[in-house]
Amino acid sequence: HDGTRSSPGLAPSPSLFQDGPRLSVLLPVPVDAPYDYWAGPDLATLVPGDVVRVPLGQRIETGVVWGPGAADLPDHKLRPVLERLDSPPLPAPLRALVEWCAAYTLAPLGQVLRLALSVPEALDPPRPRAGYRAAVTDLADVPGLRATDARRKALAAAAGWPLTEPPPSAATLARRAGVTPAVIKGLAEAGGLALVPVVEEPVVPTPDPRRPGPLLSPDQRAAAGRLRAMVGAGFGVALLEGVTGSGKTEVYFEAIAETLAAGRQVLVLLPEIALTARWPARFAGRFGALPVPWHSDLPRSQRRDLWRAVARGRAPVVVGARSALFLPFPDLGLIIVDEEHDGAFKQDDGVPYNARDMAVVRARTGDLPVILASATPALETVLNARTGRYRHVPLPRRHGGARLPDMATLDLRAHPPEKWSREGVPAQSFLAPPLLDAMVETLTRGEQTLLFLNRRGYAPLTLCRACGHRLHCPHCSAWLVEHRHRRQLRCHHCGHAIPTPPRCPMCDAADTLAACGPGVERLAEEVAARFPQARTVVAASDTLAGPASAAEMMERIEAGGVDIIIGTQVMAKGHHFPLLTLVGVVDADLGLSGGDLRAAERTFQLLHQVAGRAGRAERPGRVLLQTTDPAHPVMRALVEGDAERFLSVEAETRQALTMPPFGRLVALIVSGRDEDAVVTAGRALAASAPRVAGVEVLGPAPAALALLRGQHRHRLLLKATRDVRVQPLVRDWLGATTLPRGIRVRVDVDPYGF
Ligand code: ADP
Ligand code: ZN
Repeated sequence: HDGTRSSPGLAPSPSLFQDGPRLSVLLPVPVDAPYDYWAGPDLATLVPGDVVRVPLGQRIETGVVWGPGAADLPDHKLRPVLERLDSPPLPAPLRALVEWCAAYTLAPLGQVLRLALSVPEALDPPRPRAGYRAAVTDLADVPGLRATDARRKALAAAAGWPLTEPPPSAATLARRAGVTPAVIKGLAEAGGLALVPVVEEPVVPTPDPRRPGPLLSPDQRAAAGRLRAMVGAGFGVALLEGVTGSGKTEVYFEAIAETLAAGRQVLVLLPEIALTARWPARFAGRFGALPVPWHSDLPRSQRRDLWRAVARGRAPVVVGARSALFLPFPDLGLIIVDEEHDGAFKQDDGVPYNARDMAVVRARTGDLPVILASATPALETVLNARTGRYRHVPLPRRHGGARLPDMATLDLRAHPPEKWSREGVPAQSFLAPPLLDAMVETLTRGEQTLLFLNRRGYAPLTLCRACGHRLHCPHCSAWLVEHRHRRQLRCHHCGHAIPTPPRCPMCDAADTLAACGPGVERLAEEVAARFPQARTVVAASDTLAGPASAAEMMERIEAGGVDIIIGTQVMAKGHHFPLLTLVGVVDADLGLSGGDLRAAERTFQLLHQVAGRAGRAERPGRVLLQTTDPAHPVMRALVEGDAERFLSVEAETRQALTMPPFGRLVALIVSGRDEDAVVTAGRALAASAPRVAGVEVLGPAPAALALLRGQHRHRLLLKATRDVRVQPLVRDWLGATTLPRGIRVRVDVDPYGF
């Protein structure tokens, strides 16, 4: 019909034109399925995974060829594929992961694809760039140009630029030469420098798998042997379990070496890449080259270049946060998930997926091994290892004979903290006398103390002593947290901040606002008053300006330049400090309240991890847990070092309640600005809940944060036995429900905490 389709010069092949290749193209927008397009004869070689530009409404979108189009659509209904981009195709195992992730999380397929396209610009052709190279060897060779000192320096810098590096821009070259960019431009115009195009291929260093690693202990060698044997042998999951310092990293490095030697790519997932800046350095120490980092804080241009390098198979090892899982590795041979139990692997907004679980899926779609490493594996993972679904690879001992720290509870009811004096005024204390004594001893020995408190700011609650008013966020059901050094009260959920008011905003009384409870800043005040000579630092996400300043502080601590560290969970992970021998957990009960499914498990994992900071081979460590409930199973498990029994009790409890991993759980968060409408919608949903054997719907009830950023939130929980496939149930349930305007429902399959 419309004539644009048949090109007159082509051999007559009516049947080809008739059927013309119809393709389905998935677009990175919130849609559940790909759209059909017509590819035309010159695009007839398109295959699934190819990246194309297609019209969508009035726009042009970048999408991915997903499969054949539906045969029953008339041609004239189809719009054409405009062009194929010069981009590597999305590999089939990654497309399968996208499908799987969407089906499991119930997120729209196109929204999951967006994770795989990372930055839409990743697919745009790179902007052509140019840089300067020396065009002459001597300024005398440039006719009519006076040989000034600045020009000489500029030419020397250009001539000395390594040929292995892309030619620099005027600004970069000027900076290196110590001249102004105008000098560079002038020299180029006169013919002394040549402007040459830059080929945009990031130079990714190649790690060398044949470099020798450390001499492994017999335990480590046995573990490494089992992991190496999995490389190249198809899909398999291993749980590498060993206490902090047992050498898990050294052991999985061996599996990485094996994979690299086979010429395949490796992906290492870490919970928070920004705070584990030391991992790349360790990797470089072992393999002689840095890995490719991947996280959302990278500048877009860098992400685009790295995305392409990965897609073209030029990035042998990528270390990243959860989103790295959706990178287009063409030849992935191994995935490592370090600290696999960590809640940071669960994404909360957008597509709510758990990167640890999706890593196992990616390993299955790519038929390759995945290693889950942890000192305190998640209950799910432990059970999978016990039933034999996962291989259990234990590392029973700390490397080099180091002992685990000696752990004890400090009963706050028996040892209430005594008041201390601030500028002559008695003030509240948060450190019990036995902990203070231990700190004095540690200081005297020239060793370090970590005071762990997982609370940023000065005080978690500000209260008026006259009227009892509590200062809370106007947009969230949360208290405002005082940050004294900034003279602010801040909401930790939405960022709302106000200057600390001089009077109570409710009763207008002056000087009645009182800080309740400690945050790290307040603890620092007490430490400064009690140990004025000690060198103290506060390590929290808001006191460290970024990865660089975090790394710098870690180095200072390691070098012994600090006596007392007051830290939040940023101090819990991955660092080995040879002088750190005392850990005081200021409020061990902190994570236990609130009725969250994983509260006990998570608290155990966190405190175990913090405790692991104390003590090395020559210096045994000590951990004191301040608690009001020393008999709590978590405290007993820590003190007795019996994770096994703790997990067994946890497992029994969850089994009795049909809670994950023994049952399935889906949370539905109903939200909107109007609370009544939210409640009504929640009740309507509950009334139309699926009535199926083995399925129970609880709620609606106010969610953990019943007001968040001005949105009221109520929650329904669908609980099912393991044999129930919950996704179709939830899909039908929501499909049959029309939501009033302004009401949203967010589905979270396997909510991490609630
Ligand atoms: P984990 O990952 O289990 O916490 P690491 O692999 O980080 O343990 O090892 C802890 C420390 O012990 C590191 O400094 C590491 O270099 C060192 N280490 C572990 N195994 C060996 C070994 N076989 N030879 C030398 N050093 C080792
Ligand atoms: Zn808020």
